[in-house]
Amino acid sequence: HLSVRLATVAKYVLPGSRIADIGTDHAYLPVNLAKRGVIAGGVAGEVVPGPFKNAQREIEQTQLTDKITARLANGLKAMEPSDNIDTVVIAGMGGALITQILTQDFDRLAGVNRLILQPNVGEMTLRTFLMTHGFQLQAEEIVSEDGHDYEILVADRADQPEQYTEEQLRFGPFLLAAHNATFIAKWQRELKRTKEVLQQVQSAKEVPAAKVAELHTKISEIEEVLQRVG
Ligand code: SAM
Repeated sequence: HLSVRLATVAKYVLPGSRIADIGTDHAYLPVNLAKRGVIAGGVAGEVVPGPFKNAQREIEQTQLTDKITARLANGLKAMEPSDNIDTVVIAGMGGALITQILTQDFDRLAGVNRLILQPNVGEMTLRTFLMTHGFQLQAEEIVSEDGHDYEILVADRADQPEQYTEEQLRFGPFLLAAHNATFIAKWQRELKRTKEVLQQVQSAKEVPAAKVAELHTKISEIEEVLQRVG
């Protein structure tokens, strides 16, 4: 059984696809997808030996070694051309790390049509990356589990991705349009937190003007959105 978070990621994997799950840990996602016959096969990549062994064990115990290959590798280096991967999943890391993983071996994405990403933080960085690297957002979800919110971003390759505004990049064009209860609760919390950070920054001996300005911008953007949809 997958968590709500991973089940939501799984929903966006197209039947018959070949996935690379980068940072797979226990390989729960690819194993679940293979068991249900959703994917034709794929790779479970891990850079840390402990989680890599977890993945290997899970794949062996579920007798899926003919479909899923566990590889100990950094990021997209887990993918080889003969894997014919068309979908890359990266879940449960910060948006900056996900962006770094995608950037550092971008050429390895040549045959990949879909990215399914679940950043824990730093969603704006990741949306900006997608928009500037030929990927068009297709769907976004926000789910709440164990007191945390998780955003799931789905993007497909496109020649000319839609150019989003700063507001859309911060809040997510689909999440903003849907503005469900989880979204509103997230941004109410984020507003409170950002105001606290601003107070702390302003009480410093040397107040960093650029940081203060950035926080003010963020606060007014959140207030504006909450006023409109909250
Ligand atoms: N993807 C799973 C999930 O969403 O439940 C596991 C998330 S776990 C919090 C993050 C995993 O990413 C860790 O097992 C970590 O070792 C792995 N990881 C971090 N950086 C990585 C990289 N550059 N390449 C491959 N795996 C990485």
